[in-house]
Amino acid sequence: MDARLAAARPLTRADRCDRCSAAARIRATVAAGELLFCGHHVRAHLDRLLAAGAELHPPPERGLLDW
Ligand SMILES: [Zn+2]
Repeated sequence: MDARLAAARPLTRADRCDRCSAAARIRATVAAGELLFCGHHVRAHLDRLLAAGAELHPPPERGLLDW
């Protein structure tokens, strides 16, 4: 699968957080693949994701802290 196409696909209600199965709010693309996070877990792991060079969709500066 083309990683850029996968990253561009909007998240839906069927997409669940990989950590807790809540509704996914962010898709994180890392070298090993793709992870989905709810607002709670993307905040919990944001520093490590950015340190790992993860590409986040949508970009977290767009309202992440309002969740
Ligand atoms: Zn979660």
